[in-house]
Formats: sequence, C-alpha cells, structure tokens
Amino acid sequence: MLNAKKITAMTLSGILALGALSGCGEKKQTAGGDNEAVEMTMHMHFFGYCVFDDEWPVFQEAAKRTGVSIKGTAVETVSDSAQAFSTMLADKKLPDIIHYQTSELNEIGPDGALIPLDDLIEEHAPNIKKFFEDAPEVKAAATAGDGHIYSIPGTLAPVGSKGLPSQGFFIRQDWLDKLGLETPKTVDEFYNVLKAFREQDPNGNGKQDEIPYFDREGLANNLYQLFDAHAGQFIKDGKIVDGRITEEYKNAIREVAKWYKEGLVDPEIFTRGQQSREQLLSTNLGGSTHDWFSSTASYNDKYPEVGLEFITMLPPADVNGVVKEDIGRSLLHGLAWGISKDNADPVRTIKYFDWWLSEEGIALKSNGIEGVHYNMVDGQLVFTDEVMNADGGAPGYMRNQGCVEIGSITTLDCELAGMNQIGKDGFNSYNEAGIITEPMPILSYSQEELDVKNQFETNVNTYAKEQEQKWIMGAEDVDATWDAYVAQLKTMGIDDLTAAAQSAYDRYLESTK
Ligand code: CA
Repeated sequence: MLNAKKITAMTLSGILALGALSGCGEKKQTAGGDNEAVEMTMHMHFFGYCVFDDEWPVFQEAAKRTGVSIKGTAVETVSDSAQAFSTMLADKKLPDIIHYQTSELNEIGPDGALIPLDDLIEEHAPNIKKFFEDAPEVKAAATAGDGHIYSIPGTLAPVGSKGLPSQGFFIRQDWLDKLGLETPKTVDEFYNVLKAFREQDPNGNGKQDEIPYFDREGLANNLYQLFDAHAGQFIKDGKIVDGRITEEYKNAIREVAKWYKEGLVDPEIFTRGQQSREQLLSTNLGGSTHDWFSSTASYNDKYPEVGLEFITMLPPADVNGVVKEDIGRSLLHGLAWGISKDNADPVRTIKYFDWWLSEEGIALKSNGIEGVHYNMVDGQLVFTDEVMNADGGAPGYMRNQGCVEIGSITTLDCELAGMNQIGKDGFNSYNEAGIITEPMPILSYSQEELDVKNQFETNVNTYAKEQEQKWIMGAEDVDATWDAYVAQLKTMGIDDLTAAAQSAYDRYLESTK
C-alpha cells in the first residue's frame, strides 16, 4: 500500500487529472448520471484489523459500476484503530472519505473535520433519504449533538429488524452423550454439566485437562446474563442503568468467581482472546462457549480428526428462571462514513454513498459478486465452494473480499447462506424462541455530554475491568470489597456518565418518535 501522506497530497490533482482525461476513458454509467472515472481516498481502519485494501474485489466491482475507485490511506502496520484514526486526523489534509465508528464521526463532524450532509442528502441522495425515513433509529444515530448529519451509518440486518440473533451458547453434544447428560436448561444445570466436563474426562485422555467454558470475548455479558447482570450500561424500564454497580452484578461476580476457582472457566479467559476457539477446539479441550453462530458452527468441519459435535443450545434459564439472550443484533453495526472537509467533490461522493444503498449496492455489499462469490440456485443465494470452505467461515472470507461495515444495509440471506446447518439451526432456534432482548441504541452525545464522557469514561472502565479480573481470579473477595468499589466508581464519575447517557437517550427517544 502507498504511503498515506503521499496519497492525500495527490488527491486533489489526481481527481482533476482524471476528470480532464475522462473523455478518452471508458464511459461508466452511474446512478447520478456522472460518468467520469474518479479516484477518492478513504480512511478505513476498524476492529483493530480491518483495513481497506485497494485489491478488494467488491470495491473494484463498485468502481466499475459507479466510476468511483477508492484508494485506502490507512496502513496495516498500525494495529490500533483508534490510534490510526487520530493519526489520520492530525494530518494537514484529510482523505476524501472518513470511515469509522459513528460515535466518533459524530464528534469530529461538529469540530469541522467532516462536512454536514443534510442538504446534500436532500438534493442528491434519494436512497439515503428513504433509508433515514424507513429507519428513524438510523437517522437518530447519524445525527450529531449539534443536530446535523455528518455520516451515513449502516445496518447488520434489513430495516425494521429488531432483536435478531447473532450469538448464542454452544456446547459439546459429543461430551454430553459420552457422560450421559442432558442439555442444560437452567443455570444450575449448566453449572453441573460444566462440573462434569471438568471432572469426568469427556475427551478421554485420562487427564483433567478439559476447559469447560471458554470465551474469546472474556466474560462480559455472555456469561453474566445467566445471573441477570450487565457489565455496562443497559436500559431498564426506560432508564439507563450502569449494571456494574448493581446487586445482580455483584451476585454474578460471586458465582462466576466460584466457577473460575473450580476450573469451570478458562483460566486464561481474560487473555486468550481471538484465538480461543482455534486453541481449545483443535486440541479437544473446550466444552462450551458463547459466540457468533456462523463462525463458531464452522469449527465442526474444521477439525474432523477431533470429531467435534459443537452445537447450539438455547440459553439456560437465568437465576430468575427467565430464558433470554442479551447479546442480540443491534440494527446498526456502529460504523459509518462521512465526507471530509478536504473532499473536492462532495456531490459525487454523496452519490457514491447513495449508490451503496441502491438495490444493486446492497446486493454487492451483502453477497459479493454474482458468479464469483455466489450463484442464484432456484431463487436461493448459494455461496461458492471457495467461500463456504474458507478457513474461519464465510463471513471472514467475505470481509476480505470487501463486504465490510459501510453505510449500507446487510441482507439476512447472505448471513444464512454463509452458515452450515448447525449455525442455521442455532440462528433459527433463537429467532423462533423470541428471546432476544432489545439492545442499547447507538447514542449521539452533545458536546456537553461528550465532555463528561471524555472526562470520566476511560478511568471508570479501566478500574471496573481491573476489579472484575481481581474478583474472578480470586485475588480479592467481592463481598469484602464491594462497597469500596462502588464508592470508588462514584468518585470517578460513574453517575455522571449514566446521567450523560440518559440525556442522550432521552433525545434519541424524542427523535425516533
Ligand atoms: Ca481429559
């Protein structure tokens, strides 16, 4: 990839030169009627590893259809997306398009790094207009604290979807069978199953080496939800509550610390990270987890020599007897793109954004290229073998083809088509059970609320996380230290953070009425 600074310096002259030459080039029809081939620069670096690649076929295909080709400016050598974002902002000249978290774009927009899109949308972007009309929560997320729109967010599901499944519990059916156990239906039964996995050598090597529950995301809400707890802000009866200072959380910590002490939870749960599934399933050590249906189901085919039967189960009923799943899919994926102050052709850019919300753009973003990534068979979307047999599953493969989180809509067809039967069964069982609780919306903070957030959030999160780990790993006792912990968080401003979120949430409710 080219040097970032060099590209930004080239942008303006590059666009002019291409514009002047367009008469000789191939004419390309676009939605807006513009047909000159142009090149625009874009910053895209998110999740710490997803960096725009000029070779992505999906974006090259979009360039064929719109005339707009994109040059990435972020470099892969930086692995911290937040750092890549702030380095980019410090450059004298910004890339034409800036892609990142909606919440961050809502901060830099009013500061002048992005231009307001309200009038551009009104005049040039019928698909975006319709998107915002059909999904008021999308418009609310795109509206910054100053009331203007600076970015176009995108969704993980069709507009109108609420509470769709994304993740669920997986358990080793082969281990249950071997030990003569039933699928656990309550949190107590789940504990007993994990205990049996730990003590009764289901992998049959004569050692107590099983790791009954592992999780590449750490513990967080995945396990705490079985105790009706939340490790962060959530909505209760229309009010924002920070779950980390509630009795439910305290009880969850006490119980999970016990599970940890008894070896039921991965001793490296806080550090093993993204490779947890590879490490613990390929070695026949892992018994249960909570993760994405599609990618997790794919491990069954990945290690045939292990003979995994890693299947989904509904969440065990929580401590109150309620079967629910808190980790659902927000409609929005939380990322967006906007037009920088240094963009020489905002009209062309908003039309490019608008194209990604056309039927054609949505299909390309969701499914990739027909004949390359998928074929239609009897009216059904079927991914090619190359996609289906890719290491780590179809979603990861398609991401590397350019099906990434941009300001567009994702269809459900592509998600289901990318799953094997185990993944599909899991997705459908959670969906049919109607157990997904409504996730927190993406809130847009005003400048005043942002100041509160910036002042307190990092310290509060860091301290709460450190304390969580001390308790779970047994370095401190939750009952003995709870009051001091709550007092410390209050001193650090946790109530101010909740109040700031509440006022942003009130405004969100108002704007989606
Ligand atoms: Ca064993």
